[in-house]
Amino acid sequence: MDTVWVLGDQLNRRSGVLAQARPGIHRVLVVESLAKLRGRRWHVQRAHLVLTGLRRLTAELRAEGVEVDHRVAPSLAAGLAAHRSEFGPARVVAMEPASWDGRHLLERLDVEMMPNEQFLTSTTDLGEWAQGRKQVKLEDFYRWQRRRFGYLMDGDEPVTGRWNYDTENRERPPKDGRNHWPEPVRDTLDDIDHGVLDDLSHWGVNTWGAAPQGWWPSSRPRALARLDHFVEHLLPRFGPHEDAMLTSSWHLAHSLLSPALNLGMVHPREVCDRVEAAYREGRVPIASAEGFLRQVLGWREYVWGLYWWWGPSYRDQNALGATDPLPPSFTGAAPTRMRCVATTLADLEQHGWAHHIQRLMVLGNLSLLAGVEPQRLTDWMWERFVDGAEWVMVPNVIGMSQHADGGRMATKPYVSGGAYIDKMSDYCRGCHYDRTARTGERACPFTTLYWDFLARHADRFARNPRIVTQVRAAQKLGDLEAVRARAVEVRAALQAGTL
Ligand code: SF4
Repeated sequence: MDTVWVLGDQLNRRSGVLAQARPGIHRVLVVESLAKLRGRRWHVQRAHLVLTGLRRLTAELRAEGVEVDHRVAPSLAAGLAAHRSEFGPARVVAMEPASWDGRHLLERLDVEMMPNEQFLTSTTDLGEWAQGRKQVKLEDFYRWQRRRFGYLMDGDEPVTGRWNYDTENRERPPKDGRNHWPEPVRDTLDDIDHGVLDDLSHWGVNTWGAAPQGWWPSSRPRALARLDHFVEHLLPRFGPHEDAMLTSSWHLAHSLLSPALNLGMVHPREVCDRVEAAYREGRVPIASAEGFLRQVLGWREYVWGLYWWWGPSYRDQNALGATDPLPPSFTGAAPTRMRCVATTLADLEQHGWAHHIQRLMVLGNLSLLAGVEPQRLTDWMWERFVDGAEWVMVPNVIGMSQHADGGRMATKPYVSGGAYIDKMSDYCRGCHYDRTARTGERACPFTTLYWDFLARHADRFARNPRIVTQVRAAQKLGDLEAVRARAVEVRAALQAGTL
């Protein structure tokens, strides 16, 4: 009997090689690796989600009559070796893992790999599309995706004649926004959930964060229930406030589908099909449908494609020479009086999740401005977010957020002072710091570091048309010396955990 090996981010009976598994013909192997679990400090909701997902999939397969060898092992390799020794399969087949290290491991273990079918874009599609292009721009890739898959298209042109609704989708948070955001779907924890939590504790897995509260779907039916809820109740209001940040709501109108997508429970095609149908039925405005499609069909697939196209060495880049450790506020070793950072970290602690602008313009922005080493930030995000994975964190952190690839992915560094955060959130009201001040004890650290960053990297960005105006403005500041002196104090205080 052949073995089908299912990995922890391949939790879908209908996907890849697992879709072909039949009772009496295939045996399925599931390994819970103690080395993987003990190798990092995970957010407890992430470790719990992956294990409950594996155990629910095992139960689903067994209910169908498929034999599953579900084992806890010192490592993935040890689990496979024990399986081979007990069952002697003629072949072990798996869907390609979603990381370079995973693929190299399965090659070494002589596992036959079938193509990864969890994305619309194959691992080589983006590279083939990008051949001969000077710049691999998201907008070009996204339009190529729209055309080849036909989403929100009228023949070869976009419905309504416009590709992009970004300008409509950057509204400030509504002032009366407290009741705008329906509660996400939530499951009651059952015996499988409690068994996993007991095991994590018993195995000494180093975890962090609030205990699971049922927010994250751990099976395909649960993921589909979230997709229904999102399209029905949240998508219509998603677009305008997709970049807004509010102290009173951790989720706003976001889908919260990224963990389910990244663990394979739902396919991006299913998500895009639902968005398309809701728009065609007149239930969702074009700006929301297009804004969400841009994230799933555009950005997510773009990041996946770049990860494979640029290869494993991409993660080691550090073009700006940033070498500082993570701030102790990120690791929980110190509090912070920066209300934007404290709120985002509290969201992360409670849910293992924060939305894309909190990641990019609060956590990423601060790290870039302060000179945190990009690889440390990548690893930290990978461990701390419930939707973390190397393929998503490496391009997002190294390329988009930290400009560590020297501009291959993003043509300008994503930096801002307190003014942007103030515009897009309610964080600055009530903050210890003054978002308009750039010097003095109460100056907003983002504002101080923003001007210092532009001055510090003026030579590099002076010829970049997307940021040269800000660089020149920094160079003309009458108090630039005082700003730069304050920036030294701010970076020291950030590292000391006293900011
Ligand atoms: Fe963040 Fe500065 Fe606003 Fe405080 S004033 S919340 S530190 S941006």
